[in-house]
Amino acid sequence: ANSKIKKPDWLRVKLPIGESYKHVRGLVDTHKLHTICESGNCPNMGECWGEGTATFMILGNTCTRSCGFCAVATGRPDPVDWDEPQRVAEAINLMRVKHAVLTSVDRDELKDGGSIIWYNTIKAVKTLNPETTLETLIPDFKGYADQVQRIIDAAPDVVSHNMETVERLSRQVRIQAKYRRSLEVLRMLKEGGMRTKTGIMLGLGEKKDEVVQSMQDLVAVGVDVLTLGQYLQPTKKHLPVERFVHPNEFAELREIGYELGFDYVESGPLVRSSYHSEKHVIKGYGR
Ligand code: SF4
Ligand code: SF4
Repeated sequence: ANSKIKKPDWLRVKLPIGESYKHVRGLVDTHKLHTICESGNCPNMGECWGEGTATFMILGNTCTRSCGFCAVATGRPDPVDWDEPQRVAEAINLMRVKHAVLTSVDRDELKDGGSIIWYNTIKAVKTLNPETTLETLIPDFKGYADQVQRIIDAAPDVVSHNMETVERLSRQVRIQAKYRRSLEVLRMLKEGGMRTKTGIMLGLGEKKDEVVQSMQDLVAVGVDVLTLGQYLQPTKKHLPVERFVHPNEFAELREIGYELGFDYVESGPLVRSSYHSEKHVIKGYGR
């Protein structure tokens, strides 16, 4: 494995230009918001922002964790900004999108894990945008049921929590998280009546049977939607790409996912958790 392997053609993407892109850019700036699209150097910005959609990252842009794949800065976060929920709701309103995605950094230093801001934001977005469907990509809240319950109480249309990788590589890929704890969070969400979703990145050194095992674990806790995408190294300090997974292999895993019982599987080199997220709210869409 090394960082010098050349990117294959199927990972080349369009440049971000156009009016919708500029509109989103302006809203993000004027509302002092952060997006995971930018923080994560997402290759789909041209497409998503060009269609007027983006994934807002709440609770600041500094994370208390230091996952080996993630480009978000680690450190001591700024104090909680209690006006942020309203600004997010207004930006989504001005974007006039049918569907919105929210995520956050992890705030392990806060007693509530950031769950109150999460609750307030979901409520503010729904109040100002009653027609807009909403996906929330949440942290593990260290597995605390009362914090996870706040998300369930706020009731977004889809709740996602990413596994990111298979069990064996979890320690290496996301040091402060735990594979079993994340499964448990997904189980709690399902038991709370949520439509649930998770994502796994491929190309970090996982074996096919390990991916299938993860899929089985996820089906067992009732996960509805699975996304599989290619891991890309954000900087040389991050984990190297072990290999570029061929589109055919992504297609094969999609079929396996449906056989195992997922309601929707999004699988391909450029797939990110929030990619085509508007379809993930619709039951039975992928089949
Ligand atoms: Fe942003 Fe997600 Fe689209 Fe990437 S796939 S640009 S993170 S909305
Ligand atoms: Fe990045 Fe999330 Fe890990 Fe923080 S917890 S480093 S935002 S992946």
